Amino acid sequence: MKKILVTGGAGFVGSHLCERLLNDGNFVVCLDNFYSGSKENVAHLTGRPGFELVHHDLVEPYALDVDEVYNLACPASPIYYQYDPIQTTKSSVLGALHMLGLAKRYHAKILQASTSEVYGDPTQHPQRESYWGNVNPIGIRACYDEGKRCAETLCFDYKRIHGVNVKVIRIFNTYGPRMAVNDGRVVSNFVVQALRGEDLTIYGDGSQTRSFQYVTDLVDGMLRVMATDDSFTGPVNLGNPDEFTMLELAQTIISLTGSKSRIVYRPLPEDDPKMRRPDITLAKEKLNWEPRVSLEEGLEKTVDYFKQKLEYEKVPQMTL
Ligand code: NAD
Ligand code: UDP
Repeated sequence: MKKILVTGGAGFVGSHLCERLLNDGNFVVCLDNFYSGSKENVAHLTGRPGFELVHHDLVEPYALDVDEVYNLACPASPIYYQYDPIQTTKSSVLGALHMLGLAKRYHAKILQASTSEVYGDPTQHPQRESYWGNVNPIGIRACYDEGKRCAETLCFDYKRIHGVNVKVIRIFNTYGPRMAVNDGRVVSNFVVQALRGEDLTIYGDGSQTRSFQYVTDLVDGMLRVMATDDSFTGPVNLGNPDEFTMLELAQTIISLTGSKSRIVYRPLPEDDPKMRRPDITLAKEKLNWEPRVSLEEGLEKTVDYFKQKLEYEKVPQMTL
């Protein structure tokens, strides 16, 4: 049985990762400050033997003797990470520093959850790991993009200087159950709007593209990366190469839900990347990994989740 620390474990991706690691027979410590995650996401795990929930902000140091660390602590939705950008940079940079220090001290393997945002508004398409990116260092997305880039830098310096066993993954847009209703990212926004019969809000003209990965595919990839030997550090892209415009996504969700919602257009946020699609050749070669869940299949599960959630939230409060 391995002892594994998952930071940001009460978030959307973290909760699925904790569940999988626990089901695989590990002892899982889930650390979170509940900034964008919630106890509700891991409520089904609390009380199970081998699961521990720790309330801690990773901006402050944290010490625990573990075998592996998955460092996910950082808000991922633009609305959340831009709400308190200084805290976002601190979470990424100080969080990585603290977890790399912990990994060094306890000889733990560490997997850093980086992002396709390190490629910024890319001038190469699809994005390969060798591309250095096109990031505006002073824009509104920089707290997240540059924070994650600096975290990658720290990983490779801890590897070079201290020999820490680091693994860096670059996650592309991921969706699925347990995204928050008010998360603000496009899939949850469109699904919730469609289910409520509200207008679907496309930012810009809807021609920008993203490639959407279902969360269980990502978790599978993360475990495969962690299982590699010391010589594999990444960075490695984990994403689904099927690319869609936001207009196509909106239309797919409207037809899947049978909603009467209309599409409306809102201003495009600053520095919003025009296109994004992972080149996953490296992941295929080194991890024998590729996504299995199609957009339709993943969206159906996501729609079912939000249907239940919204239904539950409609239940009136019990009052005297
Ligand atoms: P999320 O916001 O649901 O989860 C992040 C979790 O980290 C939340 O539970 C939050 O409360 C916690 N957190 C934030 N700051 C913290 C701090 N200082 N100390 C302790 N906990 C803190 O987002 P997610 O989609 O689950 O993303 C998880 C990770 O994967 C993030 O690091 C994100 O950057 C990365 N990622 C996700 C995607 C995606 O599409 N989901 C894409 C690229 C990268
Ligand atoms: N987007 C949109 N409507 C929304 C939310 C997002 O059109 O209600 C767009 C957003 O401008 C971006 C894409 O969808 O072009 C993906 O946005 P998201 O916030 O999910 O993630 P990003 O890839 O931008 O970090």
